[in-house]
Amino acid sequence: MEIITPGMRLVPEAVLANDAALFRKIPETPSHPDRSLHRVVIVGGGAGGLELATRLGRKFGKRRVSITLVDRNRTHVWKPLLHEVASGTLNASTDAVEYIAHASRHHYRYRIGEVVGIDRAKRQVFVAPSFDDDGRQIIPPRVLGYDTLVMAVGSVCNDFGTPGAIRHAIALDTAAQAARFNQRMINACLRANAQYEPLLPGQLHCVVVGAGATGVELAAELHKSMREIASHNLDNIDFDKLIRITIVEAGSRILPALPEQLARASAHLLRDLGVQIRCGVKVTEVTAEGVRLGEKLFIAAELVVWSAGIKAPDFLKDLDGLETDGINRLVVDETLRAKGDENVFAIGDCANCVLPGENNPLPPRAQTAHQQADHLVKAIAARVKGQQAPAFRYRDYGSLVSLADYGSFGNLIGGLKIGGLIARLMYRSLHKMHLKAVHGTLKTALDTFAEILARRTKPRVKLH
Ligand SMILES: Cc1cc2nc3c(=O)[nH]c(=O)nc-3n(C[C@H](O)[C@H](O)[C@H](O)COP(=O)(O)OP(=O)(O)OC[C@H]3O[C@@H](n4cnc5c(N)ncnc54)[C@H](O)[C@@H]3O)c2cc1C
Repeated sequence: MEIITPGMRLVPEAVLANDAALFRKIPETPSHPDRSLHRVVIVGGGAGGLELATRLGRKFGKRRVSITLVDRNRTHVWKPLLHEVASGTLNASTDAVEYIAHASRHHYRYRIGEVVGIDRAKRQVFVAPSFDDDGRQIIPPRVLGYDTLVMAVGSVCNDFGTPGAIRHAIALDTAAQAARFNQRMINACLRANAQYEPLLPGQLHCVVVGAGATGVELAAELHKSMREIASHNLDNIDFDKLIRITIVEAGSRILPALPEQLARASAHLLRDLGVQIRCGVKVTEVTAEGVRLGEKLFIAAELVVWSAGIKAPDFLKDLDGLETDGINRLVVDETLRAKGDENVFAIGDCANCVLPGENNPLPPRAQTAHQQADHLVKAIAARVKGQQAPAFRYRDYGSLVSLADYGSFGNLIGGLKIGGLIARLMYRSLHKMHLKAVHGTLKTALDTFAEILARRTKPRVKLH
């Protein structure tokens, strides 16, 4: 029997079940022809890992250090853009970074594959084999050696075991899932438009479970995109009467992690658009027809997106004895080193980092991953020289929420409130900072210019 993992690969169950035994028989793949180099292996090329690999590659790649990035995908899409892929305002196939080309340009090595375990005593990483769509093996199982290991595998959606969530709701963990949601949304509109019979209950209704920043931003993007799609010759769809978007949140208000004023402004704007918000209710089941809220309530919906909470990937739960928290995150100290192993570091969403004097772990945000990647460049440079790693300092630059083109709100450092164009530009600048770290200033500036020109000729949403 085979199971399908995200990103088009078929990994035989046996490989996952017996990984340690199987991998211990495999000889190590040399990471660099010069075996005297310090070997840094980064697992996960996302918001944190790709920036780290790029900057280390630029700093050391041609000498002293061998840098290897392992990711289960071949391309990178910055995760905060996934709701735009889902709504169709961003095309994942044209806006993604190709790891192979990027690695050779920035002097690091890229290895495709899903990491399934490590051997800390031998300092080895186990990479599962890759298979094509027909089940033919592309790359065999591999073992990579490291001197410094950085885990940057991010997080996945946490459905808290809700019945039917895995089967009937779509999560936005990967570009493939976001693109799949987009296809379903377009198909739903085309089907409804061509249908002779009246719409069924739930048709053209979308429920977003979870009103964190992801859910709220997605609801606004969907509103904008579905209106746009309906306006493209879909004469039988009256957007205002037929399309409905509902956000369901178990907490007492939307955007629970953000300041109340920001949440109030966002809720006001969404309600003005006709988005329904139901707070203080928990989804107890997802079915093919919609979502159940407790014993009596049921919202019929054709599309359900799950964005209520996160957890780190399950394989971290037993990463050769490293300490993890209740949602699988690796517990790290103030230097971002995993507790109990001086050679393993973790950054981004998969790390539980409580800084001295704080009570809570750092938030799972792109700005956390970005700052931690920045810190590890210095920490690894110190390590290679045999010096002590400095402590990580986090600076909270505030929170920004962007509700498609309808409005943006922010709460910056020092409690400064912003809105409108300034908030939107600052929100966009987060992505530009990531692009600058990954591509450099010149390419980011040229791409931005090309993007502005292309906007005049392309439809605003992807329609296929
Ligand atoms: C829709 C959405 C909107 C968001 N909006 C915002 C926002 O506006 N602002 C903000 O600050 N944050 C936002 N976030 C959160 C932000 O995206 C994350 O905090 C950030 O991406 C975490 O970075 P990371 O490097 O830890 O992980 P990721 O960026 O998720 O990268 C993880 C990488 O690891 C790879 N990987 C995973 N498992 C394995 C494995 N076993 N082997 C090999 N590779 C593996 C993945 O393919 C991926 O490339 C949003 C998240 C989502 C889903």
